[in-house]
Amino acid sequence: MISFDEAVELIHSIAQPLGTETVSIADGARRVLAQPVIAQIDSPRSNVSAMDGYAVRADDLRHCPVSLEIVGQSFAGGAWNGTVPPGSCARIFTGAPVPDGADRVVIQEKVRTSGNFATIEEHAGAARYIRERGSDFAEGEELLAAGRLLDPRALVAAAAADVAQLEVHRRPRLHILSTGDELAEPGTARARSDAIPDSVSVGVAALAGQWGADCIGRTRLRDALPAMEDAAREAVGRADLVVVTGGASVGEKDFAKAMFAPLNLELVFSKVSIKPGKPVWLGRAGGKLVIGLPGNPTSAMVTARLLLAPLLAGLTGRAVAEALRWRTAPLASPLRPCGGRETFHRGRWSGSAVEVLSFQDSSAQKALANADLLVRQPPESPALEPGAEVEVLEF
Ligand code: AMP
Ligand code: MG
Repeated sequence: MISFDEAVELIHSIAQPLGTETVSIADGARRVLAQPVIAQIDSPRSNVSAMDGYAVRADDLRHCPVSLEIVGQSFAGGAWNGTVPPGSCARIFTGAPVPDGADRVVIQEKVRTSGNFATIEEHAGAARYIRERGSDFAEGEELLAAGRLLDPRALVAAAAADVAQLEVHRRPRLHILSTGDELAEPGTARARSDAIPDSVSVGVAALAGQWGADCIGRTRLRDALPAMEDAAREAVGRADLVVVTGGASVGEKDFAKAMFAPLNLELVFSKVSIKPGKPVWLGRAGGKLVIGLPGNPTSAMVTARLLLAPLLAGLTGRAVAEALRWRTAPLASPLRPCGGRETFHRGRWSGSAVEVLSFQDSSAQKALANADLLVRQPPESPALEPGAEVEVLEF
């Protein structure tokens, strides 16, 4: 059995991006750049005013008060092409090009107007209120590197670069197969006394979507091998990555691996020394990746967060490490010693400290909803008192 760090190392070595495609910037949200974004224009495009006010010659302000004739008006998107001669000024608004001759802006709060004249009573301060051409970025500059996730802030920079199309990594197509005779579509379980809602595939699909997957299907399978083999073949045919839930351990009807045997399943790892989620496995079958998650909902979501998210990060062209940004925080509650398996407790923020949830069962579903953190406790760790620093991961 390998350690968690060894499992992440294996994921790192196999999670390669799947190819690229071009998308319009309007469809760029949450995609990952395959090519850098290069500025096609300067920003600002010329020297522009940072404020609403009057564009003047600094020389004319040496002896205030001074009255300057208003000889033009410059708007954003409506530049005035004249020149401000000595003893004159131009009305100007935020983002408008500063006319020739002017070399500073006086904010309108410092100006009194009468007819065609602007009077500046006192010295207007040192600030010029001019944003120089290219002071944000210059044409030809790389604004966003390849591998960058297009979050809302990155999209602003991409659009400001004046590009319409972005070269991004293709999203991995993911198919979820949830195994279990007991499973029913949420909303229908009450009709059968031995049924439970298939909650895991709903959560895994959402988590995978957050990490860039395109979830193309979610199929519930009964624990019967021949039909499971057919479903495995079909899923592998359509998807880049198949997630199987349940049936991962040694129960008599645990067929999650067996169903991929006719597709020559090759295991990358078959168990990881973690708690919860030890039966999690990863392999290749029919040329595609297959990850098997335990069926217990907390185990499934913990292993999805710890191993599926990094796998998807790598498949979408991001660094695997971006999915595992551990940080340290002090415990708000004590932790008991842990055994030989690295343990990932469910916790939540309590101010700037971490409270470990009291119900830690691997089948938990309500407690799962209350957890916003995973708290990492190394194998054979002694008991930890409140205040001890632990590693935590956003869950
Ligand atoms: P298994 O891994 O198939 O042995 O399942 C372990 C436990 O998780 C059992 O109690 C199952 O009923 C439950 N379980 C398995 N799959 C799911 C699922 N998709 N949604 C909710 N619970 C599940
Ligand atoms: Mg089962």
